[in-house]
Amino acid sequence: MKETLRTIVGKTLIASGFTRLSRRMTPKDGAVVLYGHRLAADHEGYLQGLDPRFFDDQLTYLTSWYRIIPLSELLGYYHRKKSIPRNTIVLTFDDGFRDNFIHGLPLLQRHGVSACVFITTDSIRTGRLPWSQRLGYMFQKTTRDSILHPLSGPKPIALKRFADRKKAYQNVKRMMRRMVFDQREESLEQISALLDVVPPADRMLTWDHCRELMRAGIEIGAHTVSHALLDEIPLEAARAEIQGSMDAIRDNLGVEHPPFCFPAGSFSEELVAMIREIGFSSVFKPVHTIRINNLSNSDPFSLQRLGLPNGPAHQLEAELDGIFHLIRKVYR
Ligand SMILES: [Zn+2]
Repeated sequence: MKETLRTIVGKTLIASGFTRLSRRMTPKDGAVVLYGHRLAADHEGYLQGLDPRFFDDQLTYLTSWYRIIPLSELLGYYHRKKSIPRNTIVLTFDDGFRDNFIHGLPLLQRHGVSACVFITTDSIRTGRLPWSQRLGYMFQKTTRDSILHPLSGPKPIALKRFADRKKAYQNVKRMMRRMVFDQREESLEQISALLDVVPPADRMLTWDHCRELMRAGIEIGAHTVSHALLDEIPLEAARAEIQGSMDAIRDNLGVEHPPFCFPAGSFSEELVAMIREIGFSSVFKPVHTIRINNLSNSDPFSLQRLGLPNGPAHQLEAELDGIFHLIRKVYR
């Protein structure tokens, strides 16, 4: 849905009292888990950020209507088979962007709440952006007129206009989805040279940032080694991505059983079983069938989330009250 339409619909429904009515109709218990990526007012690498000013506004709203708890506390309700209180929220951020530390931490502290950051461990180690954002950055910033590379097709692709660059990026990204780590890195190097763009190496958290976040009560989870799409690569490569992220977190942060979150919507039940067997505490599945997680519809290995909108609190209010969820269900 277009942002302007969302704003209009959201405001109308809130003003009409529909959102409050629907809030009363929500299940008595359960937690909504929210997720974001970058905390920035731009869309670098074609990944829309959440403007920190909007996030501040959203936190003001959330802390007045909901109770925000750490993910580990939510898992505790499942382990003790204790009903999750109504109006519970858990905040999560994916990929491990440095702006989560620079902008996110001060806001979380000011509002007195916790969050969980799911890190892509190779990006923490090397500073490199996750591969799809890195690719996006190169296509956004290139001044080359065209590209000719096996992944972009048999003919040169024009890059002059904004729309050309975005389309070329999407095509190459699609071709890279099934690549394993070394193969993908090699292609990214070639494309970086062809586009004459060196992606920035200062956008991701470092291990020191992660440790500082943990000292401030922020939890750290795993999001694979290299943001691989786990269900699109061979099973053993997926295992290496999952196990490797677990090992890096344990060795660098001392967390024995971190939570896990699948990158970019690619998952399978076989992979969930593998993640559980490797020793993670929980899994977020990238499906959107549950809005409110409770003891009767989910367990720590089948948790689901809602995205934080890049907009003011009333947009989030409409998301939480289920209006957009309902609309999407009807029009899907
Ligand atoms: Zn991700």
